[in-house]
Amino acid sequence: MAISYKPQLQYVDFQDLTEQIQFQSTEGKIWLGEKRMLLMQLSALAAFRREMVNTIGIERAKGFFLRLGYQSGLRDAELARKLRPHCSELDIFLAGPQLHSLTGMVKVVPIEIDIDQETGGFYGELDWIDSFEVEICQTELGQMDEPVCWSLLGYACAYTSSFMGRQIIFREVSCRGCGDEKCHIVGKPAEEWDDAEEFTQYFKADPMIEELYDLQSQVSSLRSSLEKQQGQYYGIGQSASYNKVCRMIDKAALGKVSVLLLGETGVGKEVIARSVHLRSERAEQPFIAVNCAAIPPDLIEAELFGVEKGATLAQTSPGRGGLNAPMAAPYSWTR
Ligand SMILES: [Zn+2]
Repeated sequence: MAISYKPQLQYVDFQDLTEQIQFQSTEGKIWLGEKRMLLMQLSALAAFRREMVNTIGIERAKGFFLRLGYQSGLRDAELARKLRPHCSELDIFLAGPQLHSLTGMVKVVPIEIDIDQETGGFYGELDWIDSFEVEICQTELGQMDEPVCWSLLGYACAYTSSFMGRQIIFREVSCRGCGDEKCHIVGKPAEEWDDAEEFTQYFKADPMIEELYDLQSQVSSLRSSLEKQQGQYYGIGQSASYNKVCRMIDKAALGKVSVLLLGETGVGKEVIARSVHLRSERAEQPFIAVNCAAIPPDLIEAELFGVEKGATLAQTSPGRGGLNAPMAAPYSWTR
């Protein structure tokens, strides 16, 4: 059986809900049913929201407040069922919007609500009047580009999903926080929205700490790679004679000529060769180190200067484009 709410119908009396509020002033507690509540200044929450937006950005802050409202909606759905066991489905459902009003979040005006418990069908359109989130934005953040009633929306999604036993998504199709005439929401089953998957990402936990660890690890790896490169350049020392060598490396790296490095084993010829490569305009190209001692004498010419297509190894001659063609990269020839 489908139930439809028309604007001329009214909420049932709030009394069953207001009776749930208890102030235990001497105990420092306020209760709504069995849930402990807080009564705090809206301005404090406004300052917190502004700080969140400034610290983690609008998208992340939006997810945070959507999830905050979502948690609240889940709890109120339990309370609604408990408080109105003998009422119609519609009046039980409307306890949610009434609780939203009672707790000072917003005045909710149902425009159309169709509930079909048999098929799980749901369609809802409601107006929000005097949303606390619009007030926060107006005092702390100014006019926004998109709807701002994030936690109210999270509440509506969770409350209705829990009530219907299936995922219902509400979207705020117009909002005073971004200059529209009024805040208006539309809700229907997730599969009836084209972008439900994208929207429900907001309800997934978003642990920034993982991302921070990831970034930290990337920075650390970049730093060690940079230090390694600098070490290849500067690692041998900072003496006057080595500084002279460094200046020669700078000079040689800018030219296109081959560079011949001579020296005893272990003096750092390959390190210098890599430094020349890193400083050259071919730094982005691969550096190919060739150990000449490992190449048979009759192949060395072909290895270093390339082989013309069709030539046999015995008939090698200087060619173009061989794997190790001259000028492909500075070489370190070591013996
Ligand atoms: Zn709004």
